[in-house]
Amino acid sequence: MIEEIQPDLFRVEVPLPNSPLKFLNSYVIRSSDRNLIVDTGLNRKECLDAMQSGLQQLDIDLEKTDFFITHLHADHFGLVSKLATSSSRVFFNRPERELIEASGWWERMVAYAAKNGFPENELQAAIRSHPGREFASEWVPKISVLKDGDEIVAGTYCFKCVSTPGHSLGHMCLYEPKRKILVAGDHILIDITPNIQCWSDDHNPLENYLTSLDKVNNMEIDLVLPGHRRLITDHKTRIAELKEHHETRLKEVLSILEDDPQTAYQVASQMTWDLDCDSWEEFPRAQKWFATGEGIGHLRYLEKKGFISRRDEGTMTRFTRNDHPGLPHAISL
Ligand SMILES: [Zn+2]
Repeated sequence: MIEEIQPDLFRVEVPLPNSPLKFLNSYVIRSSDRNLIVDTGLNRKECLDAMQSGLQQLDIDLEKTDFFITHLHADHFGLVSKLATSSSRVFFNRPERELIEASGWWERMVAYAAKNGFPENELQAAIRSHPGREFASEWVPKISVLKDGDEIVAGTYCFKCVSTPGHSLGHMCLYEPKRKILVAGDHILIDITPNIQCWSDDHNPLENYLTSLDKVNNMEIDLVLPGHRRLITDHKTRIAELKEHHETRLKEVLSILEDDPQTAYQVASQMTWDLDCDSWEEFPRAQKWFATGEGIGHLRYLEKKGFISRRDEGTMTRFTRNDHPGLPHAISL
């Protein structure tokens, strides 16, 4: 399905089979000079077919096309290796280029998940069914690194890069100031909440995410073009809802830790998730993985703010609540 949003700016709907996200929005800016494609879909046949047919209908010559990828997740980055040609520039952020180029990335995540209580017998299966592993790009094209404030011109559109870390380490949006359009990747979504996962003790992605929400909240925006689901016209209301969601989650995590110290996996199994399953045991393994990552994200935030502490017991990390006046009402985002 193709929709023309503004002159020469199109949304191509790319199906994501078996994903609660349903589809990816790829945005195509057509130009007599060089075209620009923002985000591509998973590296799998269903996505490639949808992209190829969309690009054919729009008469896009891939030899004259560049790419901007909002972040490294496979539903955005995965298909770029099948679409980019030798003349294509692939624009991307520096922190995630370094992550892709670093070796042992998955192994480190697996070890970190085990330390946070993810059961050994579920770990390998969770990793095997992880879409980021199954449908990633087979090779990494040559990347042109962009930083906050850099510009990309495509036809009559002049986009400014807006660094918005949180959903991922180096997530980047594009802003068109004349038209007041924000191409948002997974920074702001409607109907679903962007997943904020943490897989390293060096990071505090929820803190970054909340800062990035405030940054975008202050911008003049008439239309948000998100990476999934419908377009958003009132970004401030959606941002307020997203902040409220995380505030509720943080309070929930604190109440889960009311009695005994617990691992992140145990905490995640008691949090409220918007999934069609009756119990944690029924969660698909990949969803348990995402939920644990999100649980760690909230625990890291609370730890950094001094609400909770960790206890490293043998190979396992458990979290416990600190004596803090007014808990959990003290949390206010
Ligand atoms: Zn996505």
